[in-house]
Amino acid sequence: KSSILEVDGLTVDYGLKGVSLRAIDNVTFALRAGEAVALVGESGSGKTTTAMAIAGLLSPNARVSKGEVRCYGNRLPIENDAAMRPHRWSETSVVFQGAMNALNPVHRVIKQIAEPCMLKLGMTRGEATARARELLELVGIPAGRGSAYPHELSGGMRQRVMIAMALACRPSIIIGDEPTTALDVITQAQILKLLGDLRSRLNLALILITHDLSLVAECCDRMMIMYAGRIVEDGTVAEIFAKPKHPYTRLLIESIPNPASGKRIIRSIPGDPPNLMNRPSGCAFHPRCPSAMAVCMTEVPSFDEYGQGRVACHLHRLTQEDKVAVHA
Ligand code: SF4
Repeated sequence: KSSILEVDGLTVDYGLKGVSLRAIDNVTFALRAGEAVALVGESGSGKTTTAMAIAGLLSPNARVSKGEVRCYGNRLPIENDAAMRPHRWSETSVVFQGAMNALNPVHRVIKQIAEPCMLKLGMTRGEATARARELLELVGIPAGRGSAYPHELSGGMRQRVMIAMALACRPSIIIGDEPTTALDVITQAQILKLLGDLRSRLNLALILITHDLSLVAECCDRMMIMYAGRIVEDGTVAEIFAKPKHPYTRLLIESIPNPASGKRIIRSIPGDPPNLMNRPSGCAFHPRCPSAMAVCMTEVPSFDEYGQGRVACHLHRLTQEDKVAVHA
């Protein structure tokens, strides 16, 4: 399958009190139609900046200093709010966390779903309301509930409304920004199942931003691990869970509680999460890495490709060189 989205060397800085902070650095990847990719990392890893850049929703103090995003081969004007308007919600749309804050409390939900259909698709009010009803049913809400105000719906129903809104302009890519945070475990599972079903029915590509690896295992094909603004590992979910190559990925996977063992102790990764104000030199993970070597403090590791994935870690390169030496 060919790519519908290409992120090429994307580098974004934030201006903060006269200081420029690099939020993401040389982020490169491609997304195919219908593919579900998770962007995983702690806060400060750059996963949200990457996703907001793709959606053209960067904050006003953000600057794209290098790279570009292409959708169906066309460069998106992600740094220009006005130029980005026609693309927003129609090619890529976002399901945010905390639907209560994202929905307008004084409008009935059906009106909120109909609005983008009128604005973006040029529908009349009647056509847009009919489409909103269809969308409500598509996300599992009886159309009659459309006359409710957001506060009259449960958290899970509100999140379904957000998904209906995201689908309104028939995008080919949905970005879920921690879409199930703040929901109970059962509702989380229902929302994830809904996203999975919609993905196959509508051939949607999904980018799921999360810090929760157990969600990734359930609903994504591929995962990209980000640390301090860079992708450090990228591969199929099956391959990474079975054999994580980057020490950070390994620690993240080991920190998932395992209910089967009867222990639900979440082991946190020692050391401080990445700090954009003071990014460590070389491999930014070196202060926390149990395998750090001298080279890690001075040189940023480049990607090595393996199977269907890639990893940026000096250790991996050395292991590969050893293997080559042994076979020589
Ligand atoms: Fe650890 Fe070095 Fe690999 Fe970074 S490059 S993850 S510090 S071994």
